[in-house]
Amino acid sequence: MKHNRAVVVFSGGQDSTTCLFWAKQKFDEVIAISFDYGQRHVKELECAKAITKKYGIEHHILDMSLLGQLAPNSLTRIDMEVDHDAPEEGTPNTFVDGRNMIFLTFAAVFAKQREIHVLVTGVSQSDFSGYPDCRDVFIKSLNTSLTLAMDYEFEIMTPMMWIDKKETWEFADQLGVLDIIKNETLTCYNGIIGDGCGDCPACKLRKKGYDLYIQEKEASK
Ligand code: ZN
Repeated sequence: MKHNRAVVVFSGGQDSTTCLFWAKQKFDEVIAISFDYGQRHVKELECAKAITKKYGIEHHILDMSLLGQLAPNSLTRIDMEVDHDAPEEGTPNTFVDGRNMIFLTFAAVFAKQREIHVLVTGVSQSDFSGYPDCRDVFIKSLNTSLTLAMDYEFEIMTPMMWIDKKETWEFADQLGVLDIIKNETLTCYNGIIGDGCGDCPACKLRKKGYDLYIQEKEASK
């Protein structure tokens, strides 16, 4: 199996950008794929475009507007309030049914056309937050299904699967891209790049992890 090339599912957010730089160091050739599914903030795609352009990475944006129509949620609908915490039952309204499965499946079709076997995604079971398609068991199951579906050996790599938000910053630092991740990625639900609005749940979670990591780093000096 050729391991020198990889397709990265890339949103321009903290996790997938860290994955992108990880892949860039690990593979000879990396192609980033983003999906347009009617995200509340077109900024997310602009951010993804800016990063890939700046660092010279081939980038494709696939039209998935149908997903936004079929499964409206608080990330695609301006009139829906974003859930601040995971509900006691069911999935938070930031969850888009089928999203990771659909994205990875399209990424796999794309990869096979290019004779690429490796798919990289930034999903993490550690910050599961009620998203069933971020779990390791799902990724393994999909890996098997994709391989069977296309009679082609895929390997889905998930470098963030077992690390939490603090360790994600540590990982970026080890890759030498801490400042890039901090200043050039978008996590904020209000569409503000870098440190964000500071007020939405995504910003709070991101800052908490960053502060923890920096504190620990300072303490170990
Ligand atoms: Zn925010």
